[in-house]
This record gives sequence, structure tokens and C-alpha cells, in this order.
Amino acid sequence: MSSIVDVKNIGMNFYTVDGELKVLENLSFSLEEGKILAILGPSGSGKSTLLNILSNLLKPTAGDINIKGKIGYMFQRDHLLEWRTIIDNITIGLEIQKKLNDDAMEKINKLLKNYGLWEFRNRYPRELSGGMRQRVALIRTLSVDPDILLLDEPFSALDYQTRLMVSDDIYKIIKNENKTTILVTHDISEAISMADQVAVLSKRPANIKNIYDIDLTVSNEKTPLLARKAPEFKDYFDNLWRELDVHEK
Ligand code: ADP
Ligand code: MG
Repeated sequence: MSSIVDVKNIGMNFYTVDGELKVLENLSFSLEEGKILAILGPSGSGKSTLLNILSNLLKPTAGDINIKGKIGYMFQRDHLLEWRTIIDNITIGLEIQKKLNDDAMEKINKLLKNYGLWEFRNRYPRELSGGMRQRVALIRTLSVDPDILLLDEPFSALDYQTRLMVSDDIYKIIKNENKTTILVTHDISEAISMADQVAVLSKRPANIKNIYDIDLTVSNEKTPLLARKAPEFKDYFDNLWRELDVHEK
């Protein structure tokens, strides 16, 4: 299997009025096509910085990045425009790129129908629940037909129960659409339930300490909700809890 994402020895320093802040140092990983990789680290550990580097919004201070495909980036906040309808929010990226043609529209309509948003296409974001807004944001990201999805704490704005349901929905969409995905999160349970692999960030300056393979397939099926109920879930949780540097001062 060849990797679709290859990252070698990335370093990132920020220079501020308070001096130099080393956020990432010697960070390396690679990812196979079709997999979901969770990158787990506490708040402030450099997760968003890493996604900004992968999506070319930031230039790293050091290191090499090799990405074979187009990136779709879903930010922590859904960034839906309140004055545009759902459909107009979804098409905005293609509109700006002047790529909104019949083919693209057909694909978007199919996504809306498949993922329960067709009836809501002419509504406004404020009329939708947090979970539906998140699905709209994902469909907007998918509308430009990316090969690799970057998701920045996609569920952090949702309350706990909603988060469980929405992570199931989002998981199904990602797997149906067969997208290679990098999901960053500070939530151990979310990482285990969603991902094929979990990479743990070290303390700052962060690198990847360890990558765990997660195998929680129950009779050929995995869903985040089922995964949370699997007996092995707790073992993965305990290992990752120990691995995370949240205990040290
Ligand atoms: P996370 O997403 O894991 O919470 P971030 O990547 O947002 O962490 O930030 C990592 C560290 O880098 C934080 O201490 C943050 O304050 C700092 N940081 C992020 N962006 C900048 C910037 N543009 N300039 C200076 N410091 C930054
Ligand atoms: Mg962040």
C-alpha cells in the first residue's frame, strides 16, 4: 500500500512579541489511502497548526510534505453564512472558483439527498440543529471533490448526546464517499470510536509519540456508536490516557 500523505520531520516555530514559540518539532507520519487517522493532543498542542500546514495555509519552518491529492478542510467552527440558504452555503466554494456547473450541482444534490438535507436546502443555517449544520459544513467540504479530508475538532461545538449521533453520521459519510481523513481532536473516546489509527502528540514542541491501530470492527461493521460499546474500547482508552502528557506539569 502506498501512502497518500507523507510528512517528514516537520517543524513549526512562531515568533511573537514574547519571543519564539516552538510548536512542532520533528513531526513525521504517513497515511494510507481510505484510512481515518485521528491526531490526539490536548488543547494548545499544535493540532490546528498541523492542519494549517497540511492545507498549505502555513509554511512550516522545517520538513517535507508529500500529499497526493486535493485537500478539503473543515474548520472547527462551521463558518456557515447566516444570510445564505443551505444550498447557497454549500455552493459558495465552487461559485468563487467559477466551477459551479451542472455536473457539480448534480453531485451536490445527490449528497443533499443521501445525507438527509434535501428538504432543508432552501432554509437558513439558524433553522438547523447543530448536528445538521455540521453535516452541511461537511457536504460543502465534499462539494469540491477532495481526496483528503482535514477535520479540525468537528464535534467540539456540540453537546454530548448530539456529538455521539453526529459522529456516527459523519463517519458514515466519510466511509461511503471513501475519503482519506485526518481528524484532530482532544477527545480520546472520539479518536478511538472514529479512527482506524490514532496518533498521539507529545508535549510541546510536539511530535508524534506513537500511532495505535484501532480494530473495533464488529461482524464486518464499524460505527462510532458500536465501537464505544466494544469490550476492547476501554483498553484502548487506558493506553491512550497513559500516553497523553496531560498528567505532567
Ligand atoms: P490546538 O489546535 O492543538 O489547540 P494550535 O495549533 O491552535 O493548538 O496552537 C498551538 C500553539 O501555537 C498555541 O500555544 C497557540 O497559542 C500558538 N499559535 C498558534 N497560531 C499562532 C500564531 N499565528 N502566532 C503565534 N502563536 C500561535
Ligand atoms: Mg485547534
